[in-house]
Amino acid sequence: MLKIGCHLSFAKGFLNMGKEAVKIGANTFQFFTRSPRGGQAKELNLEDIAAYLNFAKEHEITQILAHAPYTLNSCAKEEGLRQFAYHTMCDDLERLEHIPEAMYNFHPGSHVKQGTEIGISYISDMLNKINEKGYSTMILLETMSGKGSEIGRNFQELREIINQVENSSHLGVCLDTCHIFDGGYDIVHGLEQVLEEFDKSIGLERLKAVHLNDSKNELGSHKDRHEKIGKGNIGLDAIASIINHPNLRNLPFYLETPNDLEGYQREIALLRKLYRENKSLD
Ligand code: FE
Ligand code: FE
Ligand code: ZN
Repeated sequence: MLKIGCHLSFAKGFLNMGKEAVKIGANTFQFFTRSPRGGQAKELNLEDIAAYLNFAKEHEITQILAHAPYTLNSCAKEEGLRQFAYHTMCDDLERLEHIPEAMYNFHPGSHVKQGTEIGISYISDMLNKINEKGYSTMILLETMSGKGSEIGRNFQELREIINQVENSSHLGVCLDTCHIFDGGYDIVHGLEQVLEEFDKSIGLERLKAVHLNDSKNELGSHKDRHEKIGKGNIGLDAIASIINHPNLRNLPFYLETPNDLEGYQREIALLRKLYRENKSLD
């Protein structure tokens, strides 16, 4: 069974997100842990979480993905900004301890003229510090499009981060199809080679989630503008190959396409139709 959902608003809590997911035919979802611009997270509501966990079990919602605010920069030049990223992520991970099976995704950051090497060392320093806390949640590094000075513009940069983390057993990768396409990986004509490259540099066993997005821009544009499924330069055929690929088909897919809930519902229905159920592989 295809594990698919979309980005939902956390504003009304976990139970509400679970209900929305079921309403649109999703069996997982993603949400921002707090306003994407950073800021205070809502008070943890343990009743809401308990109600959600019951609901999720009943409706087979699994592998939900918490997304860190995208304004955090764990490799900023200014120490205060790096500290802020660290404390915010610790606070998020502390909360996620209440939700077994959730994963936590973050953008590695932008080195802003400090250079890739320094950027990577700051990011892994932070991850090493987070490790000392002993959280149980799987942390995912997102593949980025390489706009500006983003770290994670290719698979090797993520490999470098992982290499510099002492205990990386809780570290994985979330592959964003729009980002890697904009980053220059031709998943339209060479999905097989791209996945081979991923396997060689990072290892496919690290791949834990897919952000399923079409792209408004061209291959290698380094732009990062998501498009609706089938309406962009990746296109429906390539997206069908992605969700059916033997190395990807059992991963959770999260839509981050420009859509309202009905739009997401239509995309999920479309993708379920394109998914080839294959008992022997599941
Ligand atoms: Fe993201
Ligand atoms: Fe993404
Ligand atoms: Zn993006």
